[in-house]
Formats: sequence, structure tokens, C-alpha cells
Amino acid sequence: MKLTNNFSLEEFERSDTAKRLGIDNHVPQFAVERLRILCEKVLQPVRDHFGVPILITSGYRCPDLNDAVKGATSSQHMKGEAADFKIKVDNTKGVKLYDLYLWMVDNLSFDQLIWEVRPLRQAQGRPTNSKWIHVSYKNEKANRQQVFTCKR
Ligand SMILES: [Zn+2]
Repeated sequence: MKLTNNFSLEEFERSDTAKRLGIDNHVPQFAVERLRILCEKVLQPVRDHFGVPILITSGYRCPDLNDAVKGATSSQHMKGEAADFKIKVDNTKGVKLYDLYLWMVDNLSFDQLIWEVRPLRQAQGRPTNSKWIHVSYKNEKANRQQVFTCKR
């Protein structure tokens, strides 16, 4: 099901962890409209401004999936209010994920925006980090406009 021009509901259900563990992560009806609003207010504007394809790495999480990935107990991913995303690796425009983050801080309304960095273990060579953006959206009145940098 299409949510906005460049985002579909299926992208928010997809989870390797859910598949591996046999968890049914279909988005319940109450969360579908919230995800559509998240797309309309946040993700599609980012996509339109930069013109780069966006990869949703974690969208909706049913409670079992949230437990499996050790998400926060009150995670907004369980409410259909949050998504984690990166730029797809086939992006050739030279746009960096951090550019998106900075632009979002200045131009968008959101509840929480988090720059997430997690070290990747590597057998050899330089250590590298996995980076992604977590963003959530409630509604214009309830949005807290909180910005965090998360270094783990
Ligand atoms: Zn997240």
C-alpha cells in the first residue's frame, strides 16, 4: 500500500529479525495512518528536498519485535510514530546522511530526531561506524522538537 509518492507501508513492516524469528510484523490499522503522517510530514519532504532514495531500516515494530531488537519499552516504533533510515547505498549524488539530519533540524517539525552511531566490529582494517537517523512524529501540537546525538 502506497503511503506517499516514494514510501509504501511494506517498507515499514520489513524486518530481517522478524523474518528470522517468525514474528508477524504486519502494521495494525491504528498505526497505518500515523505512518502515513510520518511520511507526509517528515520522510517525503526529506526525499523531495535531496532527491536521494531513502532506506527504512526499522519502521513499525510489534511488541514482540521490539523486545527482540531490545527497543525501549515505550518505543515510538510500536506506535507507528517512528522510523530509522539511511540513504540507500546506490546514491550517487554525494549527499551525506548528516546533511539530511542538519536540514531536518532546521526545516521540519518532529517529536524526536536522533543521530544514531553504533560501532561495527571488524576483523581487520579500520573500525567503521553504522549510522542512521531515528525520527518520530506525533502531531503538530504534541511534537517536542527534541534533538539528540546518540554515541554508543
Ligand atoms: Zn528508532
